[in-house]
Amino acid sequence: VPELPEVETVCRGLNQLTLGRKIEGGEVLLSRTLAHPLSVTEFNDKITGSSIQLWTRRGKYLLARLQPTGWLGVHLRMTGQLLWLEADKPLSVHTRLRIFFTDGQELRFIDTRTFGKVWLVQDDPFIVMGGLQNLGPEPFGEDFSPQYFLQQCGKSRRPIKTLLLDQRVVAGIGNIYADEALFKGGIRPETLSCELPPPAVEKLRLQIQEVLQQAIAAGGTTFSDFLQVTGVNGNYGGIAWVYGRRGQPCRVCGTTIERVKLGGRSSHFCPQCQRKTSGRI
Ligand SMILES: [Zn+2]
Repeated sequence: VPELPEVETVCRGLNQLTLGRKIEGGEVLLSRTLAHPLSVTEFNDKITGSSIQLWTRRGKYLLARLQPTGWLGVHLRMTGQLLWLEADKPLSVHTRLRIFFTDGQELRFIDTRTFGKVWLVQDDPFIVMGGLQNLGPEPFGEDFSPQYFLQQCGKSRRPIKTLLLDQRVVAGIGNIYADEALFKGGIRPETLSCELPPPAVEKLRLQIQEVLQQAIAAGGTTFSDFLQVTGVNGNYGGIAWVYGRRGQPCRVCGTTIERVKLGGRSSHFCPQCQRKTSGRI
């Protein structure tokens, strides 16, 4: 499942490849992929003749500013992939939406599980794309401050792992990087957020930023079938501390990595390096 580093990697790739080229038309192969407008004809009509000025990322959302007007929004959800290729390349059966450019290139949206969404918005994307309104601060934003995170943890009796996955608290973190940051912070996933001492909260905040930054630098992860827009796989997989390593020895202490279910999600942790009730400082 693409998380912040994967979406950021896609965003950077799209900015390198797609800007300023004229869009010749679109094709929607699966109508429910199109979240807005609901009419395929309207989508094709409105996107034709546009060009992309800039891609930005907000949480796990991708937003393209269109010229002369409007926005293209994409959420990859579980298995969505955006690929930049020549339009005559053979179609995967999971191709859901295509955007053609006048120079023969194509932006192709492929999605096995079909939870991904595409929006074409004429006005403010924050009004039409409902999920955008409820996003918390970006992990690298000034508003994800020590005070803010301390306050969010202090008022929550939810397990810290569950809190990290809540996009209203902080945007873009999913299962992989939550597990990795908690390991680096020395905190058990099931620890109640409000029971973390302030130094542990601040250490966790810094570790969140660090694991995300490392994954972005590596071009996203290979834990899922994530592909960069050019079809190349990311390479974060080699340096995972705990995620997906149940039954394997901890890279720090050799203790067997365990897995628990929290809120329906698997959490991986080292019972030695990650303390049960409070963070190791
Ligand atoms: Zn360990």
